[in-house]
Amino acid sequence: MSELLNKFLPLEAKRSELVAIGGADPFHVVVERVVSATEAIVNGQQVIMAGTNNYLGLTFDPESVEASCAAVRDEGTGTTGSRMANGSYGAHLALERALADFYACPAAIVFSTGYIANLGILSTLTGSGDVILMDADCHASIYDGTRLGAAQVVRFRHNDAANLERRLQRLEDKAKRTLVVVEGIYSMLGDRAPLQEIVEVKNRYGASLLIDEAHSLGVLGDHGRGLAEELGVEDQVDFITGTFSKSLGSIGGYCVSRWAELEFMRYAMRPYIFTASSSPSLIASTRIALKKLNSGTVLRKQLWANAHQLYQGLAEMGLELGPQVSPVIAIRLPVSMEEAPGVWGELLSKGIYVNLVLPPATPDGGCLLRCSLSAAHSPEQIDRILAAFSDIKEKIAPEKSG
Ligand code: PMP
Repeated sequence: MSELLNKFLPLEAKRSELVAIGGADPFHVVVERVVSATEAIVNGQQVIMAGTNNYLGLTFDPESVEASCAAVRDEGTGTTGSRMANGSYGAHLALERALADFYACPAAIVFSTGYIANLGILSTLTGSGDVILMDADCHASIYDGTRLGAAQVVRFRHNDAANLERRLQRLEDKAKRTLVVVEGIYSMLGDRAPLQEIVEVKNRYGASLLIDEAHSLGVLGDHGRGLAEELGVEDQVDFITGTFSKSLGSIGGYCVSRWAELEFMRYAMRPYIFTASSSPSLIASTRIALKKLNSGTVLRKQLWANAHQLYQGLAEMGLELGPQVSPVIAIRLPVSMEEAPGVWGELLSKGIYVNLVLPPATPDGGCLLRCSLSAAHSPEQIDRILAAFSDIKEKIAPEKSG
């Protein structure tokens, strides 16, 4: 074995120990067959998928599937290069126009994934002499984007606008060269940024604001544009990043801005220049899904009805949940990291797949079961999810004191 691989042995030993104790392996889940937007065969058993981020359930939308198949036939399986080297396809440009129109913004850039969008924008928009002031609970792609760039990085306490203000105050003249970064809906606990307060603070100090709407696109706002739309502050947000891999059921990422000069960043962003552009099939299904997202509220309403049904049912069982009703519903487990895989495995054996999140990926160092709901879940499926949780609730309800 290469000497370099030695450092991973303790990690593998921990994984084996957790699997041996729990009798279940959350680290190697194989989806043997996808049955529908909400069901799959896992471990030979048909399960309800309740952790997929398929918020609007569009992965099997017939029109999206058809557009994707037609694009493969017409333009091939891949672009085999970056847009800077090989050129953009018409469909890349059409999707950028559609995103710019959707947000009523003058500029939009499409990336190969949402992770790459954050990497590109954060590492390039800010540089030496600039500051990134980010919410401590931001996604790994935001953390990694800050590492790729040269800006000073400062974190503020999660969802704490007063803490953000104190940090901006301390930055003095540098506050104007600061990019504040938050998310619409946070991916682990499903809570939202206090965006109106954050906007007020950043305006007072002349800072810029980027919001990652990965989990709020299609979920919040009358037109599904996210938290900034829901709270009526879109004209105060400088940059919005997001992904095609959740509500749009595809793969890819984007950034839109109220500043047309966003366009000039293309020539400087390594994560845009040095990676292959999205395949025609992905762009084609994304364009259709965006049109559907924008064409009505039926799916969004269904998604929220499902979120309320699950959140309320779990809350009635006395489980400790994230602070707000949301399509991302996290259950804090009052068990050790050693016991958590067993709890997760029990749910799976009852036909329910959710995400198990272990430290250090969790915000407060505990273990979480994370559900994400879809408009495609039926009320009966939500009842089955609730019944499975009810079967194990004694194990996962917090201890009552007194
Ligand atoms: N931002 C956030 C907040 C996310 O949760 C994710 C994905 N989990 C991403 C960005 C990255 O998106 P993608 O899957 O398109 O890389």
